[in-house]
Amino acid sequence: MKKTGKCPKCESTNIIPEVQIIAQQPIRPIIEFPHITKARVIRHPHAMIFEEPEQADLKAWICGECGYTEIYADDSQRLYDAHLEAQAERKKNGW
Ligand SMILES: [Zn+2]
Repeated sequence: MKKTGKCPKCESTNIIPEVQIIAQQPIRPIIEFPHITKARVIRHPHAMIFEEPEQADLKAWICGECGYTEIYADDSQRLYDAHLEAQAERKKNGW
């Protein structure tokens, strides 16, 4: 949907881009602050302290007709680099 501008389920072009995804609090406080949900990849998964997590904002593209939703991470290359580093570390250490 992000590239085509068209829903793959119903073929509608009524797409809402870059919708923020929030985690809602279970109990409604007096003042409500949205909790932003992020994608998180741990660069050093077996580190005791310095895991060096890479985080990215998530954005949704939502079809205004049927509600079909696709979610994309901003700066996915940075997440992938952290993933590759974690994978190499696992192989090196035999985890
Ligand atoms: Zn649709």
